[in-house]
Amino acid sequence: MTSRRQFIQIVPFTGAALIVGCSEKAAAPTASTTPAIAAAPVAPAAVTPAAVTPAVVAPAAPAASPTVAPATTALLPLVDEKDATASALGFATDAAKADGVKFKSYAAGQNCGSCVLYQGAAGSAQGGCPLFAGRHVSAKSWCSSFAKKPA
Ligand code: SF4
Repeated sequence: MTSRRQFIQIVPFTGAALIVGCSEKAAAPTASTTPAIAAAPVAPAAVTPAAVTPAVVAPAAPAASPTVAPATTALLPLVDEKDATASALGFATDAAKADGVKFKSYAAGQNCGSCVLYQGAAGSAQGGCPLFAGRHVSAKSWCSSFAKKPA
């Protein structure tokens, strides 16, 4: 009888101890895992943007601006009428003085500024032409390759 009483008295405490022990073991890993996971994203998140953003953005912006700006604004030497290509095309620095007898395609009012191949901005005094790479033509010039710019 004594051992039964002892058994009955011991079993609830033993069961409770097992439950507490299991719950502590189950809670312990969760408690130790949670801070580790919570801490991990914070550290890389704080480092990654600071390390990547300046490295990617900084070189891209300066590289694009200097490349475009000089190409569109720089003035190049003007084509000389005596140049072999210019002479063959009947190039005239002043369109009004173009040789209309030799180059029958010439018509009064034609000039580089109104030619489809003219690469200068509208109203500009000079600009590029694909027929004369590395040089500019005056908007008032003309050559026999003139093609009227669409209105
Ligand atoms: Fe001028 Fe047009 Fe002749 Fe070029 S092709 S030189 S822009 S007229």
